[in-house]
Amino acid sequence: MNLPLLNSRSRVMMFAPHPDDESLAAGVFLQRAVAAGAAIRVVYATDGERNCWPQRVLERKVLIRDPDRRRWGARRQEEALAALRTLGIGPESVEFLGLPDQGVTDLLLAGCSETMRRLADTIIAWQPTHLLVPSTLDTHPDHSGLAVLLGIAVDDYLSRYGIERLQYLVHGASESFARRAHELPHSPREMKAKRRAIVCHVTQVALSRRRFLSYAKRPESFLRGDERMIPAGDGPIRAFTRDRAALRLHVAFALKPLRAEDTPLYLLGRDLVGRLRRLRATLPGRSARIDLIDCATGAIASVGRYFGDAFRAEILLPTHGFAFSRSLFVKLDRRVWFFDEAGWLEVGAIIPQMAMQRPPAIGTRALAAA
Ligand SMILES: [Zn+2]
Repeated sequence: MNLPLLNSRSRVMMFAPHPDDESLAAGVFLQRAVAAGAAIRVVYATDGERNCWPQRVLERKVLIRDPDRRRWGARRQEEALAALRTLGIGPESVEFLGLPDQGVTDLLLAGCSETMRRLADTIIAWQPTHLLVPSTLDTHPDHSGLAVLLGIAVDDYLSRYGIERLQYLVHGASESFARRAHELPHSPREMKAKRRAIVCHVTQVALSRRRFLSYAKRPESFLRGDERMIPAGDGPIRAFTRDRAALRLHVAFALKPLRAEDTPLYLLGRDLVGRLRRLRATLPGRSARIDLIDCATGAIASVGRYFGDAFRAEILLPTHGFAFSRSLFVKLDRRVWFFDEAGWLEVGAIIPQMAMQRPPAIGTRALAAA
C-alpha cells in the first residue's frame, strides 16, 4: 500500500461535501485513523438539505419548502453523527459549515472570498497533518466545487507545512483518478463496520440501498497530493500544457442533444497578489469555425471546428494576471441535468527553474580530481 501510515501524532481532517460522504469515501480510512490513535476532525460543507426526491417519498409530501429543507438538513446531520459514532468518532470531532447544498460550484464561480477564507481558517486553526478532500475530478458539482475552493484556498499552506493531501472520488468513473489512485484494502471486519456506518444514513439508503452498499464492497482509493500534475484529463479537455504565458488546451467532444449548445469554459486561480482570479469564455455551438473568443479580460486565441457533431479545438488561454507559482483549475461545463460530464482539471504550479536545480554536492570537485 502506498498510502501514508498514521500514528498517534497524526491529525486527520476530512472535508465532506454532504453527510454520507464520510462513510462512502473513507469509512475504512477513518477506522484506521481511530485505531492509530490519530486526532480526527470531520467537516461537512453542506447539510445535504436539497434532497427533494428522498424527502418527498419518505415524508409523503410533494411541495418542499425552506422549513422542510431545514428539517431535512438537521435529520441528515443526525445521521452523519450516528455514522461517525459507528466508526469510533464522537460529535466533538465534527463541524457543519452550512454551505448551500447543490450550490457549492455557484459559490466558487461567484468568487466567494468569504467562503474561501472560512475554509482556510478552518484548516489553519486545526493544523492537520493529513487532509482528506473530494477530488476535482468528481462529477458531482458540490464535490468538485469544494475541491477547487479548498485547492485555491490552501494549496500554498499545504506545501509550506508539508501537509499530505489525499483526494477521494465518490461520483463518476474518472480514469485519470483510477489510474493514479492508491487502494486501501480492507478486512471483513472493517467492511462490516463501514456497512453499519452507511446504513445510518437512513434517508439516503431508503431509495438507493444497493448503490450505497456497493461502496462498502469496493476498496477505498485515494490520490496523493503530489500526483495531481497529469498531462491529460478524462473529460472534453484531452490534454494541456502550461508555461508562464499561457495554458494550451486540446479539446474534443461530441455535441449532446439534451443540453444548450454553448459551452462555458472556466479558468480559476490566484492573481499576483493572492486574490481569486476568474476567467469565463464560451465556445459557441455549431459554429463552422472559431478563431477568436472574447472574454472579460481580453481575447482568447483558439482554432477549432465542428466535424458533424464532433468538435475539436486547440485553445490558447493567456494566463497573464494569474500567479504562475499557484495551481490553475479549468473546466468545460458540459453538464446534462445535474451531474457534470467531468470535473475540474488541476494544472499544477510552475516551479521556477532555479528551485528545481539541485545545489552542487559538496566535495564533487575533490572526487573528480582524485
Ligand atoms: Zn456527496
